[in-house]
Amino acid sequence: MSELHKFLFEGLPVRGMLVRLTDGWREVLSRRATAGAFAAPVRALMGEMAAAAVLMQSNIKFNGALVLQVSGDGPVKLAVAEAQSDLAFRATATVVGEVPADARLEAMLNVHGQGRCAITLDPKDKLPGQQPYQGVVPLHGDRREPLQELSQVLEHYMLQSEQLDTRLVLAANDEIAAGLLIQRLPVEGEGNLQGRAGAGPSQVGPTPSGGTPAQPAWGRLSLNEDEIGLSEGFNRIAHLASTLTREELLTIDAETLLHRLFWQERLLRFVPNADAPQPHFACTCNRARVVRMLKGLGREEVEGVVAEQGRVEIACEFCGVKYHFDPVDVGELFTPQRDQPPGSSTVN
Ligand SMILES: [Zn+2]
Repeated sequence: MSELHKFLFEGLPVRGMLVRLTDGWREVLSRRATAGAFAAPVRALMGEMAAAAVLMQSNIKFNGALVLQVSGDGPVKLAVAEAQSDLAFRATATVVGEVPADARLEAMLNVHGQGRCAITLDPKDKLPGQQPYQGVVPLHGDRREPLQELSQVLEHYMLQSEQLDTRLVLAANDEIAAGLLIQRLPVEGEGNLQGRAGAGPSQVGPTPSGGTPAQPAWGRLSLNEDEIGLSEGFNRIAHLASTLTREELLTIDAETLLHRLFWQERLLRFVPNADAPQPHFACTCNRARVVRMLKGLGREEVEGVVAEQGRVEIACEFCGVKYHFDPVDVGELFTPQRDQPPGSSTVN
C-alpha cells in the first residue's frame, strides 16, 4: 500500500510530509512495460515526479489536478506527473533519443539550457473563462548553473513562487517512488499558492491560449520574503532532512525513518481519518475526451487515418488503454446530432 504521512514540529513553524508510492507506482511501470519500457533514468525521474506531485497536491489540497511537467531539449522531450485531490496519480514521458544509463536532469532535458519545469493547477470545477494557474522555472539555478536534481528545481520553484523555504528529498526505483518534504509554514492569504489557487482567475497568472504560459507576477506576492532563510527552526529541520540519502528513503519504513531523522525533535503526527484518501494510481482518460480530441483534429485528418489504416486507434500514454474508432464510428463522430460517443474501448 502506498502511504502518506503528515507531521508538524511542535513549537516550530515547520511542517513535513513523507510519501511512499509502492503498488500504484509499480502499476504505472507495468502498464508502460507492454508498450516498451523507459530507460532507467527516465523511470527514476517519473517516479520522483509522481512522489513530488502527490506531496505538492496534498500540501496545498487543491481541488483539481496538480500537473508537474518538465520539458526540454535533450532525449527526453517531456515528462509529466499528475496528482488529483483524491491523491490519484499518473505519470508518463515522451522520449525521442537514447538516454545514457547514468543520465541526470541536464543530460535528459537540459542539454542546451532550454529545459523548463511547469506546475499547473487545473481546477476541477472551472468558472466560465477561468484558465489554469501555471508557474514556470528553468532547470538551472540563480547563477545559471544546470541543476541535476528535480528536488533542487522544485525547491527553487517553491521559493520563487510561494516564498516558502522548502527542503525536498526524492528518490525512485522500480519498486518504490518516495519523497520527503519539509516546509516553513506559509503566511495566510494570497502570499501562498493555496491562497491564489482559490482566488479566481484575475489573481493568477493566466495561460494565454496557444502561447507560452505567462509567469505569475512573483514580485507582488512577497509578504514573508524577509523571513526566507532566517527561520532557525526550519534551517535545523531542513539540515536534518538533507542528511537523508536516497538509499535510506527507498529502503527504510516511514516510522523508522522519521524516528532516525528527527528523534531529537517533538514531532506531532497527523492521524488520518479512516476514509482519508491514500495515494493510488488512476487515469482520468475516457472515450469522451478522445472524441473531443479527434473532433479537434478535424474530419479530413481523421478520415485520412481511416483511409490509410482502416481505423483509428488512440492509446492513452498514461495508462495504455486503447480507444478504437472504425469507419462507422468516425462517420458518426462528425455527424452533428449524435451526443453519445460511438463505439467501444478495450483495455490492453
Ligand atoms: Zn489513461
